[in-house]
Amino acid sequence: MPLQACPLCEKEISKRANTCPNCGEPDPFRYYSRKSWIERIVWTIVIAVIVIYSWVELLPMAIEALR
Ligand SMILES: [Zn+2]
Repeated sequence: MPLQACPLCEKEISKRANTCPNCGEPDPFRYYSRKSWIERIVWTIVIAVIVIYSWVELLPMAIEALR
């Protein structure tokens, strides 16, 4: 049975383990890919909010300033 260190608690656990028996992390070997996937969505939302905010708030101000 191949063993690999859990990315969270660094305890050697079975590669086939669906849940880390030490820290209880569900699906520990997909932890990093899942994290980067969530990070990408968070950044997309943050950038979208900044773009929408600048269009809604700053564009009328810019038009007003040019008058
Ligand atoms: Zn663990």
